[in-house]
This record gives sequence, C-alpha cells and structure tokens, in this order.
Amino acid sequence: MLLGAHMSIAGGAFNALLEGEKLGCSTIQIFTKSSNQWKAKKLTDEELERYQAEQKRTGIRPVIAHDSYLINLGSPDAALVQKSREAFLHEMERCDLLNIPFLVTHPGAHMGQGEEWGLKRIAESIDWVHEHKADFKVKIALEVTAGQGSSLGYKFEHLTTIMEHARHHERIKVCLDTCHLFAAGYDISTEEGYHKTISEFDRIIGLKSLVAIHLNDSKKPLGSHVDRHEHIGKGQIGEKPFGFFIRDKRFEKIPKLLETPKENEMDRVNLAILRRLAGEK
Ligand SMILES: [Zn+2]
Ligand SMILES: [Zn+2]
Repeated sequence: MLLGAHMSIAGGAFNALLEGEKLGCSTIQIFTKSSNQWKAKKLTDEELERYQAEQKRTGIRPVIAHDSYLINLGSPDAALVQKSREAFLHEMERCDLLNIPFLVTHPGAHMGQGEEWGLKRIAESIDWVHEHKADFKVKIALEVTAGQGSSLGYKFEHLTTIMEHARHHERIKVCLDTCHLFAAGYDISTEEGYHKTISEFDRIIGLKSLVAIHLNDSKKPLGSHVDRHEHIGKGQIGEKPFGFFIRDKRFEKIPKLLETPKENEMDRVNLAILRRLAGEK
C-alpha cells in the first residue's frame, strides 16, 4: 500500500525521507523549497547525493512534490503571473533533480476575471513552462480544490478545460484531495456518494490521469468552499469514507498522502487509523 504524509524538508530534502521512515511511510510528499517564499537555495550536489542515498536505503518511492502557495498561474497581473511561471519552472527543475515524478499544484485563481478567462490563463502558463524546457521528466498534477475565493479547480470540468487548452496535455495529470472534494460539494461521506463522485471523475477526467490522492478530513461542511484540513475522523467527512479510498483496488498503486496538521505527532495516529481501515472489510 502506498501510504504516507507530507514531510518537512527542514535541514535538507533527505530529512523528509528519514522522517517518513520513522512513521513507516512507503511514499511521502514534500515542498522542494520553502512554500511561503519565492526564493530558494540551490540544491547542492552533496544534498542531492545524500537524498538519493536515503531514498535508495529507505525505499520510499515515489516522492511527490507540492508547489509553493505563492504561485498563481492564473493571475491577471502580468508581473505576478510571470513571477509565478518562473517560480513554477524552477520547481519543475528541482523535481527533476530529486527524481520526483509529479509536482502537485492548485491550478490558480482568476482574481475576478472570470472562470473561463482564468482556465485559459492557467493553460497558457503551463504551455509557457513546457516551452521553456521541453524534456521535463516531472509531470504537473493539477489538484482538485475547495474553490475558496476565485480559486479554480473545484469542478472536474475545470481540470478538463485546462488540459484541453494546454498544448501538452499528456504531461498534465491530476491529484484528488478528500477535503477539497468535500468542501467543493462532492459528497464522498457516504458509500453511494463516493462511487458517484469517482465515476463522475472517471467520466469527465479519466481515472488513468489520477496520480495522487491527499487524505484529509475537513473542518468545514460539504460545499462550504473553505479549505481547512482536519485529522482523519475528526472532521465533517468522518472516519469511514477514508476506507472507501484506501480499500479501492483501482487506487492500489496511487500514492495516498496525509496533509493534516502536524501537532502532537498526529501523523502517527492518522496513519494508524488509515492502516486499520485498509484491513477492514
Ligand atoms: Zn491537497
Ligand atoms: Zn487543502
């Protein structure tokens, strides 16, 4: 079972692997740089070597990356969108250095320009990134969002529209997030709702595009459009639906990752719940 959590790279990217190992993770997610700063320190050869050695030793694979929260590939502001594209390109390069196959990103926010406009803008940004370097190994994984503010990606159709507008859609994959789905109005809290949501996803996007699933409970109710992660079973989704995801044979090879609050070693508790759910009938 590919199960893990988002891990801090404080002290170097290899540390995320060590922390993941302590918790028995078979996969992890990281930020390749500080998530709330534009600037990043260059990855040194020494750091890369150490990272590769620890990945080999721990067997934690794949490692998934999530991009910085400052990036808005849909920004109407010319300077900001340019800054975002350059930062995103830079993160793609870091992913290739770290052998990371997917860079998860919240698609972007239109900031009042309208959804159709924003979706096109995001596709243009993705094209810009791919045109600057044609041979990226890393692929972009657009994440379903809660739809807070003018954020796009809270409907499966948004992601399809971005892929259709973009030139290299074979390089664009998708990441689901249980908290975001629920906040966006997809009721995954019942077995019937779960199956309805996944078949809708398959019909509109296609299950073959799915490369990662974030397992987070939601502090806020169904359709609230507010993105607040809660510990597994402690939120509005409840514990049971996580079993639907974790036991679904179609998702066996898909990395499933916690992004829940880090206080009091709660990763350990949340992972234990998920492992127990995995064993239930
Ligand atoms: Zn997420
Ligand atoms: Zn979130």
